[in-house]
Amino acid sequence: MNQLLSYFETRQTEIVNKISELVEIESPSFNISGSSQAVDWIETQAREISAEFQIERVFAEGCGEHLIIRAFPSDVKPVLLLGHTDTVHPIGTKTQNPTRIENGRLYGCGTFDMKAGCVLMLEVLRAFYALKLEPKRPVTILLSCDEEVGSKSGREIVEREAGKAEFCLVCEPSANGRVKTGRKGTGMFTLKTRGIPAHAGLEPEKGASAILEMSKQILNLHSLNDLSRGTTVNVCTIEGGTTSNVIPEHAVCSIDVRFTSITEAVRIENEIKNIIAFDERVSLEILGEINRPPMERSEKIVQLYEKARAIAASFGYELGETEVGGASDGNFVAALGIPVLDGLGVAGSGAHTLEEFILIDDVPKRATLLARLLLAE
Ligand SMILES: [Zn+2]
Repeated sequence: MNQLLSYFETRQTEIVNKISELVEIESPSFNISGSSQAVDWIETQAREISAEFQIERVFAEGCGEHLIIRAFPSDVKPVLLLGHTDTVHPIGTKTQNPTRIENGRLYGCGTFDMKAGCVLMLEVLRAFYALKLEPKRPVTILLSCDEEVGSKSGREIVEREAGKAEFCLVCEPSANGRVKTGRKGTGMFTLKTRGIPAHAGLEPEKGASAILEMSKQILNLHSLNDLSRGTTVNVCTIEGGTTSNVIPEHAVCSIDVRFTSITEAVRIENEIKNIIAFDERVSLEILGEINRPPMERSEKIVQLYEKARAIAASFGYELGETEVGGASDGNFVAALGIPVLDGLGVAGSGAHTLEEFILIDDVPKRATLLARLLLAE
């Protein structure tokens, strides 16, 4: 079985070049042409590996394209390899974090989150063909195009494919190499306040400030934080007012909510949806909802992790686990009761920043681990 590790070691430079090519195609969420180009590239690679793959592209209005690749079909349940092609980096950002190799690291926008993971899935399939190995189960690769923005259109496909699968492996970024066996759930809300405008100098008493109301609401919202339960509520953006001498009529803020249990999710959602104005002349509007359920560290998840850890140990690779605050599409899978192991992507750091990179040395090990998980009983 070390045949796989040496195969990937021999192919390391080639694989890193492939990752660089995909990273060079900028594909921020909601950028349709970027999404299509990234999907084109992946489809071409897949067709080069085998003409037998069933490839399906699902166009999502205003969003991009989801991609499904089905390999090694049979009548047993497949394994779902899950990931996404969208990144958080707007077009042009690659000039600030150019795709390059430095000190054993491959830098670039979206390398770590998660274009290296996309390429890893393809390379594992390529290895099966090259080494004439057959995975225990059919393999379905699903790469969605709106994961970074809440999976509004991708969710349905993720849940559909996960529902058919025996288990799911998510090639999202690792946490310092550790896989993710628990993730917080997320909610995204918007609060809008609408007050009464007035001249700030001539008749301020006639105004009702949307910003003052918002400020009080923000303090209120932050008081919902309960770190001991793993619940966080943070106002992350704020905007308001028209100009400097007018009592502001409008303000708007976005609220990020994270939780480790559904009970907490419901509690916080109720609190947010039922807030009332401090100043009755100001009206409030609350939009948004709980988005991803938490991925709770279930027995099934632990079993899958233990299997991965044992496989990794067999070739001298130590695989740790951790629970994190960030959500992924793995959360939707876990909520269906399907065993899921997340964070199987290449080790690296700096997700969502301009310092994003992967560790080149980790590529063969991660690829071996993923391949062996598909070959194991
Ligand atoms: Zn990601």
